[in-house]
Parts: sequence; structure tokens; C-alpha cells
Amino acid sequence: MSESVIAQYGWSDRLALAFAPHAQAGHTPARVVAQHRDGYLVATDQGELRANLSGRLHHEAQEADPPSVGDWVALALNPADGAATIEAVLPRRTVLTRRAADSLGKLQVIAANIDVVFVVSSMNADLNPRRIERYLAAAWQSGARPVVVLTKSDLSDDPQGQAAEIVALAAGAPVLLVSARDGLGLEALLAQVAPGEVCVLIGSSGVGKSTLVNAFLGQDRMTIAAIREADDQGRHTTSHRQLVLLPGGALLLDTPGIREVGLIDAEEGMSEAFDDIEQLAGDCRFNDCGHSHEPGCAIQAALASGALDPARWANFQKLGLELAAVEQKADRIAKAAERGRLAARAKTYRATKRDHRGGAD
Ligand code: GDP
Ligand code: ZN
Repeated sequence: MSESVIAQYGWSDRLALAFAPHAQAGHTPARVVAQHRDGYLVATDQGELRANLSGRLHHEAQEADPPSVGDWVALALNPADGAATIEAVLPRRTVLTRRAADSLGKLQVIAANIDVVFVVSSMNADLNPRRIERYLAAAWQSGARPVVVLTKSDLSDDPQGQAAEIVALAAGAPVLLVSARDGLGLEALLAQVAPGEVCVLIGSSGVGKSTLVNAFLGQDRMTIAAIREADDQGRHTTSHRQLVLLPGGALLLDTPGIREVGLIDAEEGMSEAFDDIEQLAGDCRFNDCGHSHEPGCAIQAALASGALDPARWANFQKLGLELAAVEQKADRIAKAAERGRLAARAKTYRATKRDHRGGAD
């Protein structure tokens, strides 16, 4: 018997267990494969269906996050009119978030249940370790496994040397070299993602993400081009998948906006990725412990006992410095926005006064 649709999309025993109450309610398991302004596209064992949120979920979505691409959901199917309604979202294993563009405070979920985040950077002159660290922090924050991908190795005079520099900051994440031009390293990349697992590519513009996506998709490349075109123009697209099955059985999640995810968000990534270190720091005798020579320092004790990996600690410190700079930048952006709001209000106020004076200037 061939594998069921949801099995191809990564359905597991663990999910079946979480789904049991929904099965009892007569609901059907499905995975969100696309999210559009006018609804969702979901994959079920009955095929792909368009689905909408139930009234309750729609209401909750005002406060909490609505389902995202990659989510597993419980569907109610109406046999009379064939309508599919998303009644519940199963607990997420991982989430990739970003700050809403309009409100600096709020984190939006942009993809759920990702297994592997490829942090993509190109090996030409502007290989930027600090930027890779920030993307890595966002990847760690998601809960997925980060893999650093250094592209365009054909353009580098010393690919191994450059890679070694990145290995030193990757804190154990694999670092892989690829050249799409020469067709090198692509298989090793895909070998990081098991059948049914989901990967995403993040990284700055121009580093070679689309080229990799096309290489992954092989002959399906025209499909992804079609997705791009439609979404970039903001048209209603209801039939294109953003979660696609790759020839080897792995899944690729590629929504508009996901690729540039994760610079300012990196700070939360820090604290989640380094939970253990934060916890240790909480055990230091002094609240303002510098974790170098202070008496009663839990970090130094853990380093001495081998409980804390020195490379990990070094990476945490390095990221900490870099992130302080990112934070200051976020702060500046917030302040600039606030200044903008005040200026707008002052303008309105002046306009009102002008009106009261009878329009004289
Ligand atoms: P994206 O913005 O990250 O999606 O980057 P693209 O995939 O559009 O690639 C940007 C440019 O880099 C394009 O001109 C590609 O042809 C080029 N490029 C991508 N991969 C390679 C590679 O392995 N070697 C070389 N030399 N160029 C590449
Ligand atoms: Zn300490």
C-alpha cells in the first residue's frame, strides 16, 4: 500500500496521540500547506482542500496566533456542501516568529513545526560572521535544528578556511559548503532533512536561496516560480502550496517573507537557545556576577566540572555582545517610530488650530 498523504507530510504516532480527542469528535487530521488572505489550503488523506477558521478560532485569532503554514489542525468536514472548517490546532513543536512590521512589541508566528532551518550565507567577499550569528540565534529560537549553508563556494579562494571560521561560531550546528553553479554539496544538504521533516531557508537577499530551492525542486521549479509571482503581486492565490514535498521525501516550507526572518528577534532566541546558561547564571552568588573571577560563580563552577561546554559558553558571550547592538538598534527604531507618531499628532493639532482660526496660515 502506498503511503497516505498525511504520512508523507510527516504524520507520526506522537501526533496521532495528540489528535485522539479530535478524532473522537469526528474531526479529520490535516496539515496547513498554504495560508492566503482568503483562507487556508490543507492536505488531508482525502486530498487537498480549502479550509476556513471556525468561528471560535477566528475570534481567538484576534488575540492569539492564527494557524500557520506547517500547523497540524483538526478539520470538520461538512458532507452536505463539502466545506472544511479548522476547529483546532495541535500543539506546535517549533515556531518561527518575527516582529510585526507595525508594532515592535508583538511576535507573529510565520511557520510552525519546522525541523531544520538552513541559515544561508554566501562565500563571496561579504561573508559576515556577525550576520550569521544573528540568523543562527533566530533559528535556535524556533526550536528547529540549525544548519549553516555557505553558498557559492566556487567564488571563494579559500572555502575551507572561511568555513572553519564559521564552524567556530556555529556552536555545534553543521556547516556545509555548496556551489549551485558546480552542483556541489546539494545532496549533503538534503541529507540533513529526513523524509516527512520540514526545512526552511533563511538569509539575506542575494545569497542564493532561490537557486537552492530550484535545485531542490528539480523539474518542479516552474511551480515555485508561479507561487512567487502570484504572491509578490499580492493577488489572491488559493491553489499554490507553500509547503512542498521534495523528490526525496523531505518537505520545504517557503512562504513570502520567511527568508529574511530573524534579525531583531534574535534576542529571544538567545535566551531560549541558552536556557541552561541563563539558569546557571541565576545560581551565581552575586546578581551582577561577571562570570569571570567572582566567588560563587555557578558558570565558572560548571565550566570547571565539565557540565558546561566552554565552546558553548564562548558562543553565548559572543552572541551577547552582538545582540546588545541589535537591541540598541531595535530601540532606535522604536524611538524613531514614536517620534513619527508625535510629529503626526502635532501636525494634526496644528491643522485643527488653523481650522479654528478660519484657515489662515
Ligand atoms: P536569493 O536572493 O537568496 O534567493 O539569491 P538567488 O538564488 O536569487 O541568487 C542570487 C545570485 O547568485 C544569482 O545571480 C545566482 O545565479 C547567483 N548564485 C546562486 N548560487 C550560486 C553559486 O553557487 N555560485 C555562483 N557563482 N553564483 C550563484
Ligand atoms: Zn557567575
